[in-house]
Amino acid sequence: MVDTVARVTQIRRLHGGLPAVVVGVCLVAAACGDPLPVVDGDFAFVGVNVLPMRGPNGAVALENQTVVVANRRIASINPTDTVEVADGVEVVEADGQFLMPGLAEMHGHLPGRPLLPLDVKNLLFLYVANGVTTVRGMQGDRSKFTMRDKIARGETIGPRLFVGSTAMSGTRVTTPEQGAQLVREYQQSGYDLVTIHEGLTAEVFDAVAASANELGMPFGGHVPDEVGLWRALEAGQTSIDHLDNYVEALVPDEALPGGTPGVDGLAALLDVVDETQIPELVRATRAAGAWVVPTMVLWETAFYGQQSAVALRQERPEVKYMPPEVVAQWDRAVVDRLATSDLAANRRISDLRRLIFTALHEGGAPLLLGTDSPQVFSVPGFSMHREMALWVALGMTPYEVLETGTRRVAEYFDATDDFGSVAVGHRADLLLLTANPIDDIANVANRAGVMANGRWMPEGEIQERLAAVATTYGH
Ligand SMILES: [Zn+2]
Repeated sequence: MVDTVARVTQIRRLHGGLPAVVVGVCLVAAACGDPLPVVDGDFAFVGVNVLPMRGPNGAVALENQTVVVANRRIASINPTDTVEVADGVEVVEADGQFLMPGLAEMHGHLPGRPLLPLDVKNLLFLYVANGVTTVRGMQGDRSKFTMRDKIARGETIGPRLFVGSTAMSGTRVTTPEQGAQLVREYQQSGYDLVTIHEGLTAEVFDAVAASANELGMPFGGHVPDEVGLWRALEAGQTSIDHLDNYVEALVPDEALPGGTPGVDGLAALLDVVDETQIPELVRATRAAGAWVVPTMVLWETAFYGQQSAVALRQERPEVKYMPPEVVAQWDRAVVDRLATSDLAANRRISDLRRLIFTALHEGGAPLLLGTDSPQVFSVPGFSMHREMALWVALGMTPYEVLETGTRRVAEYFDATDDFGSVAVGHRADLLLLTANPIDDIANVANRAGVMANGRWMPEGEIQERLAAVATTYGH
């Protein structure tokens, strides 16, 4: 009896505010009479609902857990009433809050020159401020390895970086030998991706693909127009971004005006698109095992938009966190685009892209979350919330959308034991929310804080830092 009372006292000490426990009833039979096991580490979320994001119950919150972080990894996850947190561990009381894995931006462009070092620092922070703890940077150079390593060492606040190579474009890479050689160089340098861009001839592309496949090196990004989607899928392109060339692939060969026309010429193809081919495209995408990073919002803003730059600035107040000269460039891009495009055709292209997107999702093609930040009005981190909201509007459940930014990303990198879920041994890249994102995707923005690489930032600190960034840019 004495032991039981001591145990109850211990529980009440841990959970000051919780209802009293009935004296004399053992809560945990095995532990009855024994002191609770002590969990040690650097940091503990206590009383939190955990969204594991994997397994058959990945969408079901494990209620009232204590998640301990040690050495930047998740060290233990236990029901809160079964453990005692060791003295000296920094505790976040997270009763009723939700802990999920940090998100990944799978089509980012890592900032660099001509931006100033302070701007670069600010941009990297915007990702973390929004719960984005991983970024695949699409167009890299060696300086991005330094950036990646500084973040990994905790010297810069930023997301974990995966670095794509300098883009393989038709202007840079003109012979098959040169393409194959560059793939070898990029692999040896330690890039995580051979970035494919526009303008490669089919012959050069085939050499790049063969070399990458031989070395087991992922390659992806754009689909060069001369290559086309079918050939890219057949060649085993790892990721296909922006739904590039999906619309063109619906046009019968005989109706194609001498090669495919790129983003500018799609309007001319609308009347010859054969939508009955969409299921075949979906089937081929699945069969090829290609990952699709559709970047829907960016394409509907920058290329096939309806809104003026003024309207976009109003709709997206987060532009205040961007250097003004960058926003001015975005303004000009939108103004120029709207001046030369037909809004009715833009609407039809956007609708067709949405149809393809939904077919890919419903047909089980693997989608990954990405927004092409920081391109036209796609502000790092903030753009992820807009992309997720659109995907839900297009028929995905919030859980399915969150998977594309967490566990599916880890599957893409073949690293499901390292990140993408809330699980013991995983990196401490975590997002603490005040409401359940499975109920409403908008709750991903209702943060209590973010942990990036084991560094905890409560929401108050995030907001202070954001305000300081806005002040830098005159707001
Ligand atoms: Zn891009």
